[in-house]
Parts: sequence; structure tokens; C-alpha cells
Amino acid sequence: MTKYYSASYILPVSSEPVKNGVVAINDQGEILKVYSQESAESIKEPIEYHEGIIVPGFVNSHCHLELSHLHKKIQLGKGLLPFIKDVLKEREASDLVIVNAMKKADKAMFENGIVAVGDVSNNSLSKKVKEESSLYYHTFVEMTGFQPDKAEENFKLGLEIKEEFYPLPTSITPHAPYSVSKDLFKYFRTYSEEKENIFSIHSQETEEENKLYRYKTGDFLEFYKSMGIELDFFKPQARNSVQSIIPLLPKNQKILLVHNIYTSLKDIYFVRRFGRDVTWCFCPNANLCIESRLPKLDMFIPHDFNMTLGTDSLASNDKLSILSELKVLGKHFPTIPLTTTIKWATLNGAKFLGIDHYYGSIERGKKPGLNLITETQGVKLSKLSKVQKLV
Ligand SMILES: [Zn+2]
Repeated sequence: MTKYYSASYILPVSSEPVKNGVVAINDQGEILKVYSQESAESIKEPIEYHEGIIVPGFVNSHCHLELSHLHKKIQLGKGLLPFIKDVLKEREASDLVIVNAMKKADKAMFENGIVAVGDVSNNSLSKKVKEESSLYYHTFVEMTGFQPDKAEENFKLGLEIKEEFYPLPTSITPHAPYSVSKDLFKYFRTYSEEKENIFSIHSQETEEENKLYRYKTGDFLEFYKSMGIELDFFKPQARNSVQSIIPLLPKNQKILLVHNIYTSLKDIYFVRRFGRDVTWCFCPNANLCIESRLPKLDMFIPHDFNMTLGTDSLASNDKLSILSELKVLGKHFPTIPLTTTIKWATLNGAKFLGIDHYYGSIERGKKPGLNLITETQGVKLSKLSKVQKLV
């Protein structure tokens, strides 16, 4: 049976907003047609009318399901390094506690209209939750290791975890420039020469990362010392972290750079010049919680990069809601229209994860899920806006 949904606006994302439009969808959730107000007059069946905006299901490009049990356990607002130290100290818990928290987080994402997730994992504990979920998950098996002599060992360990996730969609990825040695980066590059392997790397989430790379100064020296790691092997690179790692990454793979709070215009030009397939992912709520700062989004927009949104984990965010991220953007960047940011929240994430044939836009033949956003003002969100899953 075909169902018809109408709202004040339909945002197909792949095309212009349709005022008082109607979406026709079948039992399988497949989009049959988007009607304009005039052409909808030909519909003879009942139409479900709503006030608000209908958008496709959200794609959360950056999450850590396995940190869900740290919800409200970490004191925030002290900067990234104290945050990491606290996460390392607090993350130990029984499998049962961790799995139950993951299940709850997965359910919350479903209710918040999220249909697909790029999820970073350090172990395979989340496998069962992902298998049983109605959400699509791509797992980024994340590797760390700043000591060059541990590169081979770390890489092997990561590949084993990737194997454990089989047959779910996975790839392997370096954690961040400050935690992955040049040698470990080389393993990724060799591995990715022959296999499809999309990357998701935390980048420039703290200015300390730039200080480490530029001058070998800043808080990371003390951080590593406290862990008993001497940084004799590390040479200052006289340029920002992202400029130092981009040349180490393969040309033939999609690369998600996550956070980018301390990315400069010079960095953006550098990345563009290097011709890597880069998507920039932003997690505004987590950025405000940890670093009390947001990336300079206006600087990225004119360069025609793919841009996406993520929630990050419940360790650094009070909820896993893409609508909440969109609201923060609306508040802090009022000149960027919802028609732009909604693309980051849906189609662009789907493109990055390689699932845009199915998700990301309200187009004939896709099964993107349908969200209704209420308490809107024209094609704008308000503080009170809520999301409700229609399909
Ligand atoms: Zn993260």
C-alpha cells in the first residue's frame, strides 16, 4: 500500500525544498514520488498532513558506541587532553555494562531519526548490538601507537579486530596524528593500495596537536611522559598536524577528518592542493563540551568539500542526536541555511559511507527513512524543534 505524507516543507536534499509537498512511499519504505502542492491534487488516497519539515533519515558520521557507558561520567570543559586521560581511566567496565549502554544508545539514535552511523571501535564488543540494530553501521576499527617500534604489532592487532567484525561493513583507520607514528601510517597506506578502505581520523581537535607537530612543544610532551613514553623519535615538522599527515595518506581512498576545530585557512588550501579525497566532519556539541570552541565553518564552505556531521560519543555529548547538532549550527552560524547543513546531516554522510544509493535523500527508489521536524519557522529550526520518525 502506498502512504502519502505531507508537511509545510519537504526537503528532499538532492533537490530544492518543496512547500506543502507530498511524499509517496510504499510498505518497504521505498520512495515512489515527491509531489509538488499542485501535482498532489491528483492524489485520490488519504494524505497524512503535518506541520513542520520532512527530511530524510539522518546519517551520523562520527560516533563511538563503545563509550556510551561513560555518559555523564567525564568532567567536561577542561580541554581534550584531560578528557582523554579521564576516558582512559574510566572506560574499564564489565562487558554487560558496556553492551547495555550501547543498546540504549542505539535505540536513542533510532528514535532520534538516525538511520546510518560511522562508528569508531577499538574492540569488537559492539558487533552484536550492530548486528541486531535496524541502523546501518560502518565500523572504523581504530588503531593507535605513537612508538614506531610498535607499529607492526599494533597493525596486526587492528586487523584481528577487523576480522572479528566480519561480515559487517568495516575499515581500519588511524586514531589521530598525535597518537599514530609515521611507521604505522605507512602500514595503512600499503594496506589501502589494493583494498577499499575508508578512513576516519580525529584531526586538530586540540591546538596542542599543532604545537606538537610544529615545534614539538605543548601538553602532549607531558602527556606522553606520564605514560612512560619518550618522544626522542619524533621530530618537529614545522607545520600543522594535518599538513604533516595528509601526504602519508593514500590518494585512492576516502578520508574523513573529524573535528577540525584548529584547522586554519592555510591547512584547507594545503589539503586541497594535495588532492586527497577528504570529507570534513564536524561534531559541534562535543567541541563545545570539550574545548568550548567551534570550528571556523565559514572557512570550509567556499571550497566545495564534502562536509558531514557527527555526534561523537556519549562521553562528550549529552545525547546522540543529529537534530541537536543542527540546532547548535543554527544558533552559532545563523548565516548558514538549513538547506546547507541538512545536506551535511544526510546525503553527504551517506556519500562518504558509500550508501547514498539507499540513504541520504528523498528520491525515487531510495529507502532513506523519513523524519518530521516540528516547531519550525519556514525552512528554519527553532530552539524547540523536535524530531519524530515517520518511516
Ligand atoms: Zn571521536
